[in-house]
Amino acid sequence: MITFDNVTKIYNTNVGLENASVNIDKGDFVFLVGPSGAGKSTFIKLILKEIDADAGSIIVDGDEVTAMSNREIPDLRRKIGIVFQDFRLLPKKTVYENVAFAMEILHRTKRQIRKKVPQVLSLVGISDKADKYPDELSAGEQQRVAIARAIINNPTVLIADEPTGNLDPDTANDIMDLLNQINMTGTTIVMVTHAKDIVDRMQKRVVAIESGHIVRDEFGQYGYEE
Ligand code: ADP
Ligand code: ADP
Repeated sequence: MITFDNVTKIYNTNVGLENASVNIDKGDFVFLVGPSGAGKSTFIKLILKEIDADAGSIIVDGDEVTAMSNREIPDLRRKIGIVFQDFRLLPKKTVYENVAFAMEILHRTKRQIRKKVPQVLSLVGISDKADKYPDELSAGEQQRVAIARAIINNPTVLIADEPTGNLDPDTANDIMDLLNQINMTGTTIVMVTHAKDIVDRMQKRVVAIESGHIVRDEFGQYGYEE
């Protein structure tokens, strides 16, 4: 699903990533961990083609990202759902409208939208909040909306960038259960996190980056003391 082959990205003089190789299969659940400045964001930005690699090859869902023209980038990003630490919902749209908007952008019909949005709101457990605005929701509920928006167009990959960073431990665990459930349906998940307790509990694949290098790739533990 995602293959990095000897990928290097240098910012002026700073190393973003250097000779990074990793293969993430369809249906994998991968935690991307490492200290601040390690290269985690660089890794994510390269997948989305927000930045270009200086060397190496990046393949996402069969397509060579490094060779892609600007015209092809929207198709790439359509395959990838993204969730952020700070939710990034549209404050003047309701829950329903926030999620529907992701389908409207792809010119889905009203009929398709009316069918799909309630299904996804139900999947993430916020059907009863459909008509609320983001500022009327708890942090955990807002993250559920963000997840609904990220998955509504059936992405092959879901990238979660510290999705539990603004949540209390119980809510964070609920969100992890939801991500696990989404992963079970076949969506590949790449989650950037500093949450040692969550990584240790989930027992998934852990890819560790330090100073632009992939230093560890194994199942189980977070592996750092912070
Ligand atoms: P992380 O997400 O793990 O904190 P980043 O991928 O953001 O790490 O950063 C990796 C390295 O690249 C760091 O040394 C950072 O300072 C550097 N870097 C990131 N973005 C830029 C940029 N736009 N210009 C210069 N250096 C950058
Ligand atoms: P239209 O009337 O333009 O055909 P819809 O009937 O799809 O549009 O929806 C009109 C508005 O009603 C939407 O913008 C949305 O805010 C709200 N809405 C529609 N369906 C639901 C639902 N299942 N739950 C909550 N709100 C809904």
